[in-house]
Parts: sequence; structure tokens; C-alpha cells
Amino acid sequence: MASREKASVSGHMFDVVVIGGGISGLSAAKLLAEHEVNVLVLEARDRVGGRTYTVRNKHVDYVDVGGAYVGPTQNRILRLSKELGLKTYKVNVNERVVQYVKGKTYPFRGAFPPVWNPIAYLDYNNLWRTMDNMGKEERKFVGGSGQVSEKIMSLLGDRVKLTRPVTCVDQSGDNIIVQTLNHEVYECKYVITAIPPTLTAKIHFTPELPPERNQLVQRLPMGAIIKCMMYYKEAFWKKKDYCGCMIIQDEEAPISITLDDSKPDGSLPAIMGFILARKAVQLAKLHKDERKRKICELYSKVLGSEEALQPVHYEEKNWCEEQYSGGCYTAYFPPGIMTQYGRVIREPVGRIYFAGTETATHWSGYMEGAVEAGERAARSILYVMGKVANLDVEEPESEDVPATEIMCTFWERNLPSVPGLLKIIGFSTSVTALCFVAYKFRLLK
Ligand SMILES: Cc1cc2nc3c(=O)[nH]c(=O)nc-3n(C[C@H](O)[C@H](O)[C@H](O)COP(=O)(O)OP(=O)(O)OC[C@H]3O[C@@H](n4cnc5c(N)ncnc54)[C@H](O)[C@@H]3O)c2cc1C
Repeated sequence: MASREKASVSGHMFDVVVIGGGISGLSAAKLLAEHEVNVLVLEARDRVGGRTYTVRNKHVDYVDVGGAYVGPTQNRILRLSKELGLKTYKVNVNERVVQYVKGKTYPFRGAFPPVWNPIAYLDYNNLWRTMDNMGKEERKFVGGSGQVSEKIMSLLGDRVKLTRPVTCVDQSGDNIIVQTLNHEVYECKYVITAIPPTLTAKIHFTPELPPERNQLVQRLPMGAIIKCMMYYKEAFWKKKDYCGCMIIQDEEAPISITLDDSKPDGSLPAIMGFILARKAVQLAKLHKDERKRKICELYSKVLGSEEALQPVHYEEKNWCEEQYSGGCYTAYFPPGIMTQYGRVIREPVGRIYFAGTETATHWSGYMEGAVEAGERAARSILYVMGKVANLDVEEPESEDVPATEIMCTFWERNLPSVPGLLKIIGFSTSVTALCFVAYKFRLLK
């Protein structure tokens, strides 16, 4: 076969080729390189990091326009970033959070807004009881999350090749042939694909992928997000004892959730906001200046301040327009897909292994999941090569960011949810009715 000859002649022979230089692909390659496996990463873009991207310019110093926040129980990304010399800082949530509902602003302290309706409280309490209070430890990387991938790339040196979109994977022969859009050909023993599942459809496989995987990759669409950062001369929201976190419940509002995005030393005051889902699709049609104006007007209304109308800079990133992401934060699983196709999501096809955050068992869709999936795929190959004895290794809890214990009162622990209350009412009514009937017919004394 011509391509095989080309690969051999050009010396493009590797043990493993990793497709995709996001956090998942790079953490796979790092682990393989540490076990002296001859590995190559082929990345489609002219940068590594994929859905994490740290933009640097004189207005913002650095800003994460993609994945940014890490926290307790995300022990793998915390371990990896620490090893790479990165530091984290806590996002400011010291002052009051603002909830905006039906045109009114309700500032509050703590993890969730107060609710006065006792029935709504039951549901609310139940919701928050089943979630944890880890928001208190949401964190970001000093210098940006893009450094995770950039630092691994510098460790791997010329084993990472940029602007190499992979177009063909042929595992019909003894070795696998991988071809890129610019007609380079590489030969290897194993392949790890570490790209969003739906982007697999851009790659030609020989032999064809098994039917279940072929169908799965068509059924995992990517979400829609525009991440927006508004910069101000000063953090005017703090003057009102607001921390910059807004929860906005308004169908017309472009942004649904915000956080303070000022630097850890308080410089370059900024508010980060997400335009989510269908709003992202609609607002993407507008000019950037128009989106900026709408967001400022919203912040002005919610924070009750004219200063919100006077930004000094605006950064945004529409992930729907990225052909090598397809959207963000992650793929979503429409109803029935996980039950029908889920079992094959991590199943290797011949000598092709699947990584990428979507294939993770914990924190799928997050940077943590990307590391877990990449290291799992790498470890599976190391195992087959006889270089490691165990497929799974336990990840110790991060010492720097331990999971906080969830404290709640007796009532918070034991109050029923609304469905629970209805069940109790239904059950006690039925028992009373039965007793009444039994008494009436003299079955009970
Ligand atoms: C706006 C936004 C906010 C987010 N917020 C958070 C957050 O706060 N915390 C968090 O943990 N996560 C967050 N995420 C999600 C997080 O960024 C991702 O889960 C994670 O980065 C995924 O890593 P990955 O390596 O699995 O995939 P990707 O980062 O998508 O990497 C895949 C790589 O493959 C490349 N590629 C694609 N096709 C090909 C091909 N044919 N050939 C070669 N290369 C190819 C791509 O260019 C890309 O570099 C956010 C994401 C976005 C976009």
C-alpha cells in the first residue's frame, strides 16, 4: 500500500499516535512518554488545549475563554497542574450574590437564595441537599488553564505536531496508518483518539467503525456557549457589597450566570458571563458590539449601576464556530442514547482506544474528566504492552483542595421534598380511608 511505504520511508514510525492535543490527549501522551513509549500527538489547530484556551493581550493580561474552574474531588487535574508548577486561586465570592427574577434584584449571602414559600422551600432544600456546597472552593489557575496543555507540550517537544488534522486511520494491516489533511502519513501500533465523539465523523476509518460506535458518534451533539468577559475601570459592584456573581432568571436576558473575573490581586476588574444554549444560537447572529451593549445593559439593570454601561474592554468566545470543537462545554446525551449506545463509549475498536472528556466515568465534560479519560486510554495500552500490571490506579485526594464536609441541620437533612410530601399525604390519606372503611364495616373495633 502506497501510504505504508510512505510512512516507512519518511521514518514516521511510532508506538502510539494520539489524535487531539487537548488536555485528554496530552495527558495520555505524557503518561506514555513517562513509560518510554514512542508517542506522537497530532493536533488539528495551530495551538494545543482544545476547549481550554488562554488568550493573552495587553487589555486582559491573560483570560480563559474556555474551561477555567477546578475544585474539590477533581483530584487528577489538580495533581497534574501541580506537577506542572501551576497555582490556583479562589474566585471571589466574599460579598453578596445577586439573584435577578422577574425584573427584581435580590441580594443574598451564602450558597443559594432564600425562599419564603414553604412548599418551594421543600423542593429547594431537597435540591441543595442532593448537591454539595463545594461552590465555596471554586478555583481558577493563575496564568490561565491553557498552561496545562502548553506545559505538557513543552515536555513532549517535537512529539507534538500542530496543524495536523487527522483524516484517515487504517488498521487493516499489521501496523496502523494515520494520515493528516496535509497528506503526511504516520505508522504506529496503537491509536488514541482524544477528540469530541462527534468529530470522529470527519475521520475515514478502514475497516469501518462497528455499527454501534458509528451510530453513537452521530448522536452526541455539542452544546452551545458564548463566554463573555466585560472589563471595567474598577470593581464597582463591590461598592454595593456584591461579589460579581449574578444568577439571572429572565427569558430576555442574554446572560444567565456571572462570576467575578478580576485577577487574584484584584487588578483588571472584570465580570465573566455565559450566554447559554438557545440564547447562544440566537445572539451569535448579532454583531459583537451589539452583544456587548446588551450585556452591559443587563448588568446595569441587575446591579443597579450606571457604571456597568462603561466597560473599558470586552472579550468573548463563541465556541459554536470552532470546527475542531463543534460547540461546548461538552457533548450532551439526548434521552435514550446512554442506555442504547453507552456501553461502547470506552470500548476500543481493534487497536484504537478512545479518550476525551466525554468518555470519562467521573466529571465527564470537565477538565478532570479529560485527564481521567486520557490516562485511562494510555494505561490500557501500557497494560497491553506489559508495561503496567494494573489497569486502574486509585487517585489520592488533593491535599491542597480537599473536599469539604457537607454540614446541614437536622431539618435540612430530614425535610421531605415536594414529591416526598405528596407521597406522605397520599399514603396517610389512604391508610386513614382504609381504617375508616374497616371501622365502618366493623372489621376494626
Ligand atoms: C466556555 C467553556 C467553559 C468551560 N468551563 C469549564 C470549567 O470551568 N471547568 C472545567 O473543568 N471544564 C470546563 N469546560 C470544559 C473543558 O474545557 C473540557 O471538558 C476539556 O477541555 C476537554 O478536553 P479534551 O481534551 O477531552 O477535549 P478538547 O479540549 O476538545 O481536545 C480535543 C483536541 O482535538 C483536536 N482535534 C479535533 N479533531 C481533530 C482531528 N481530526 N485531528 C487532530 N486533532 C483534532 C482539537 O483541536 C482539540 O485540541 C469548559 C469548556 C468551554 C468551552
